Parts: sequence; structure tokens; C-alpha cells
Amino acid sequence: PAEQVLSVQLVPFDSTRKLLLSRDITQLDRVQMVHRDFIANVSHELRTPLTVVGGFAETMMDMPEMEEKTRVQQLHLMVEQTQRMQRLVDDLLTLSRLENGQQLKEEEVDVPQLIRLLQAEAEGLSQGRHQIAVEEIAPARLIGNHDELHSALGNLVSNAIRYTPAGGTIGLSWRLEQGLPVFAVRDSGIGVSPEHIPRLTERFYRVDRGRSRATGGTGLGLAIVKHILQRHQAQLAVKSRLGEGSEFAARFPEHRLLVD
Ligand code: ADP
Repeated sequence: PAEQVLSVQLVPFDSTRKLLLSRDITQLDRVQMVHRDFIANVSHELRTPLTVVGGFAETMMDMPEMEEKTRVQQLHLMVEQTQRMQRLVDDLLTLSRLENGQQLKEEEVDVPQLIRLLQAEAEGLSQGRHQIAVEEIAPARLIGNHDELHSALGNLVSNAIRYTPAGGTIGLSWRLEQGLPVFAVRDSGIGVSPEHIPRLTERFYRVDRGRSRATGGTGLGLAIVKHILQRHQAQLAVKSRLGEGSEFAARFPEHRLLVD
């Protein structure tokens, strides 16, 4: 299916240029291009860790007398690269399941409880390097799928931690804006400059490849978030300032809201 551009709110947004560009490419060309790029990207992402693992394994076979310290170091790197491939394959499977679009299993989601779970997970990820605060909890519940929302919101939280240097703050909020439910993750991190924002939910799009990889990113997190939010008819709104921080907010439509 054709990729739909999620309505990402931009600060600021040069809409004229984007419209002109997209008219030049037919929908089919675009789907084919996205598909080709995707295969190339997956191959590339797998090649690097495979080369590392294969390379070290060969060295170990060729040098049975290798120093113990070096051997342990290399084994650590091999495990790290294997975990990276594991994360990539897990994310690919998640995306593929979402794209195959089984109907959303709806249930009542206790968002305040989910936020407490996300906060605990954030504390585990941060390991005391950030201050993690729950800024607001509206007395409202949501109709949606708990596990999918946990995964989407969890991705926003782990990004906030990964792109915020130690000493920074992460704020979670569940609030009503003009009567509509919004889940937001705010961080005081590195931020994103405006020209990158429209592309963040593309598969494998990263502002800084090195930084994403170094912190364990697969480049698929926000693509997964986008899909899950679309399945909930929700939008991802991004506000960010380079060097100051970001807010990634999921805005849900009224029909998903249950007020106490
Ligand atoms: P990754 O695994 O690279 O983090 P994502 O799809 O989750 O992949 O995010 C895509 C890119 O968006 C990231 O590589 C990063 O450049 C940018 N990004 C996402 N969240 C944040 C954030 N909270 N602050 C700054 N940049 C972010």
C-alpha cells in the first residue's frame, strides 16, 4: 500500500515546496521507490553488524593463542552487534505486522496506569541520568489497544532518553487540549531542526546516524509510532528546537476518549 504521510505538525512548515515536489512523482513511482529504498536500507543495516561478528569470529579462529582480555572484548562486541540485529529484526516484524493491518483490538486503556508503567521503564532506561517527571494526568481513559499504545508511547519515551544528555529532564503528560486527549513526551535534549521534522517518521530516517546507532537505535521507532497512531486515528505532533529540546505528542480524536 502507498505510504501515507502522517500529518506531522511543523514549526515552521514550508508547505508550498513540499506540495510542488510531491506532484512531480506519481503515486506508483513513489511506492516503488520507497520499496527499493527499504530493501537497500535493511541490507545495509544488517551488513555492518554481520561484518563485525564474522570478522571477529574469523580472527578468533585464526588466533587461538589470543590474549584473554582481547578475546573477551571481541566477544562483547559480537554480542552487542548480535543484539543490534535482534532489535532490527524485532522492529521489522513489528512494522510488518502493523502494515498487514489486522483490525485494531479495542479495549479500555487506563492511561494513568500506563503512564506510571512508562515512567518506571524510563527510570530503568535512564539509570539515574535524567529526571523523569509525570507532569499532568487527566482523569480520562482511552479506547484503544493497550499493547500497541504501550509500544508507541514507549518508543517516544526511549527516544527522549536517548536524545537527551545526562542531567536533562523528561516530562510525561496526559492532558486534554480543547477537550481532546493528548499524550506528550517532553525532553530537554538535543532537539531537531525544522527541516528534518517532516521526515522523522520515515523508515530509517535519522538526523545523525552515528548518534542513533551509538544509543541503540534502529531508525524504525518513529515509523512504528506513526503506524500505531494511524491505527488509532491519532496524529503525531512534533515541536522542537535545536539544542533546547522537543515535544512529541500523540493527539487522539474525540471518539477515543472516555471521561470519568
Ligand atoms: P532511531 O532508532 O534512530 O532513534 P526513530 O525512528 O525513533 O529512530 O527516530 C528517528 C530520528 O528522529 C532519530 O534518529 C533522531 O534523529 C530523531 N529523534 C527522535 N526522537 C528524538 C528526540 N526526542 N530528540 C531529538 N531527536 C529525536
